[in-house]
Amino acid sequence: MRHPLVRRTLLQAAPLSRAELADRTGLSRPAMTEICQELTDLGLVRETGVRTPSRSSMGRRRAQLDLVADAGYAVGVLVAAENSAVTILDLKGGLVATQRFRPPSGAPEPTLSFLALTAEDQLARVGIPAERIVGVGVSVPGVVDPERGRLHLSPFFGWSNVPVRAAFEAVFGPRVTVASPVQAIAVAELLFGSASRLPYADLALVNVSTAIAAAFVFGGRLQQGADSASGQIGHVPVDAHGRRCRCGRRGCLDAVASGDALVALAAQDGEEYGTFSDLLGAAEGGDAHALALLHQSARQVGKVVGDVITMLDPTLVAVSGMVLRLGTWYVDRVREAALARAFVVSEAGPRIVASAFGVDAGAVGSAAIALDKFVYQPA
Ligand SMILES: [Zn+2]
Repeated sequence: MRHPLVRRTLLQAAPLSRAELADRTGLSRPAMTEICQELTDLGLVRETGVRTPSRSSMGRRRAQLDLVADAGYAVGVLVAAENSAVTILDLKGGLVATQRFRPPSGAPEPTLSFLALTAEDQLARVGIPAERIVGVGVSVPGVVDPERGRLHLSPFFGWSNVPVRAAFEAVFGPRVTVASPVQAIAVAELLFGSASRLPYADLALVNVSTAIAAAFVFGGRLQQGADSASGQIGHVPVDAHGRRCRCGRRGCLDAVASGDALVALAAQDGEEYGTFSDLLGAAEGGDAHALALLHQSARQVGKVVGDVITMLDPTLVAVSGMVLRLGTWYVDRVREAALARAFVVSEAGPRIVASAFGVDAGAVGSAAIALDKFVYQPA
C-alpha cells in the first residue's frame, strides 16, 4: 500500500491541489507531484478541473485532484440485535447502498454466517464484482481485539471469544477489519464526518443508545488501549448509590444514563415504555416523564464528557447514537453540562456536536473502517 497519508488526506478533504496536499501532509511539492502521478497511474486519483485560489502566488490556477469514486468499494456489516445493516460505500465514502434487517438471534456463528452471506447477496444485487471490493468492515458491540479479529466479550449479546474475522473471511477472503460500532463511527467522523475538515483533529466520540461507550482518535489514530478496551466510559462510576451495572459494579454511567437504564428507571416509577426506542418515541411526542429522564441522562453523560475534555483536551467531541432521534436536543444538554464542568483554556472550549451521520452512523462507520484500512494502513 503506497502513500497512505496522501490517500487519507484526499478521502478527508478532496478536491485538493497538489500544493494543498503538500501543505496538509508535510511532504515536499516535487514529492507530491510524483506521488499524485503514481496514484493517477493506478486509477485511484484523477484531476477534476482547475480553481484559482483567492490568495495564491501569482494567482496561478491549480489543478484539483480527487479520488476516483468507482475505483473500488468498501462493504460494512453492522452486527446488532434489531438493526443490523449491510452498507456499501464507494472509494470517496459515498453511500452506494444500505440495507437493514434483523438477523436470526442466538449463537454467534450462525448469526455471523447469515450476515456474511447477506452482504455477498447485496453486492451481487448492486452488481459490484468481488475484485472491486477493497475491504470488508465488521463492527460488533463489545471489546474487540483488532489484531486477531476476535470479539473478546460482548455483555450486550452475551458472547465471548468469537472469531468474527474468520467468519467473514470464509466468504470474502483476507481483507476483513473488525471494530466496535463506536470505534467505527469515530473513524467515519474522522474520514468524512465532523472531523474531516479539521487537519490533525483529536476526536472524542460518545455514543448514547441502549448502552453508552466512547472512542478516541488522537494523532489520526484510533486509540485501542493495552487490552483494546479504551473508551469504556459507560463504566465510569457516577453514583455510589445507583443501580447495579451489567459489569457487576454499582452506579456506572451506563447503569444510570443509558437507554436501557432509562427504561428500567421508568419502570421503577410505574411507567412502562417497553424499549428505549419506545421511550424516545414518547419523548418526541412531548411525554414529560420521558423528557425528564433523557434530560437527567444528558446531564450525567455531560459531566463525564466534561472530565474527558479536562483530561484529553480534544479538538472535537461528537455525540452519536439513538438519542439523535431528538435532533440536537440531547446534544445541547450534554454540551451545557460538559462545559459547566470542564477545565478549558480557550474561551469557546472544544466543539461538541452531533455525529454527521445521524442514526445511520453505525452502518456507515462499519464500511468506513474498511475504507480507512485500504487508504491508510501501510502494507
Ligand atoms: Zn459498569
